[in-house]
Amino acid sequence: MQVKCPTCQRLIEWTQAPYRPFCSERCRLIDLGAWLTERHAIAGEAATPEPEHAPEHRRES
Ligand SMILES: [Zn+2]
Repeated sequence: MQVKCPTCQRLIEWTQAPYRPFCSERCRLIDLGAWLTERHAIAGEAATPEPEHAPEHRRES
């Protein structure tokens, strides 16, 4: 059975691929990195910007 490496689209033999579904450890890490980057981007977008509290300790009389 042959499968395509999700990262580089190369055909690999499923039973002989130690890093399946990837063809190599490199491709596995690339995919993992891309996934993490994507998650970060989504999380950053969704995060609500924290309003800055203005310092109110100083008072002018
Ligand atoms: Zn690959």
